[in-house]
Amino acid sequence: MVSANPLRFHLDILQSKPEVNAVIHTHSMFATTLSTLRKGIPPFHYMVALAGGDDIRCAPYALFGSQLLSDHALAALSNRKACLLANHGMIAMGDNLHKALAIALEVETLAEQYLHALQVGEPHLLTHDEMREVIEKFKGYGVWGK
Ligand SMILES: [Zn+2]
Repeated sequence: MVSANPLRFHLDILQSKPEVNAVIHTHSMFATTLSTLRKGIPPFHYMVALAGGDDIRCAPYALFGSQLLSDHALAALSNRKACLLANHGMIAMGDNLHKALAIALEVETLAEQYLHALQVGEPHLLTHDEMREVIEKFKGYGVWGK
């Protein structure tokens, strides 16, 4: 039998990422809705870069509290500050709770915007170079950090 520990991915993230001091997990409406499509958030808006890269990945589905879910989440969080969890919700993290919350709120907004855009067509995506430019700019903003 697989033992479920709802704190497992929180603990695994905190142990494996010394720069992270806060982990937020939500089943918020739009991030969760998008996660049921098993879609990550592509670079359809420059604020996607707030999560640290060109996209916000969606980790594959696994049972809540399972080691497999934690492993999937850690992989999806590689070089990122947030991810979706398929058919489940999202994770956001930061070096403090304020930053983790700011990222969680932004991911929810982006998920809502992306879902709206998908209803009328396929959004145009920013290029890797355009996203790199945004990430460089963000480095100067203290609230969002490095
Ligand atoms: Zn959950």
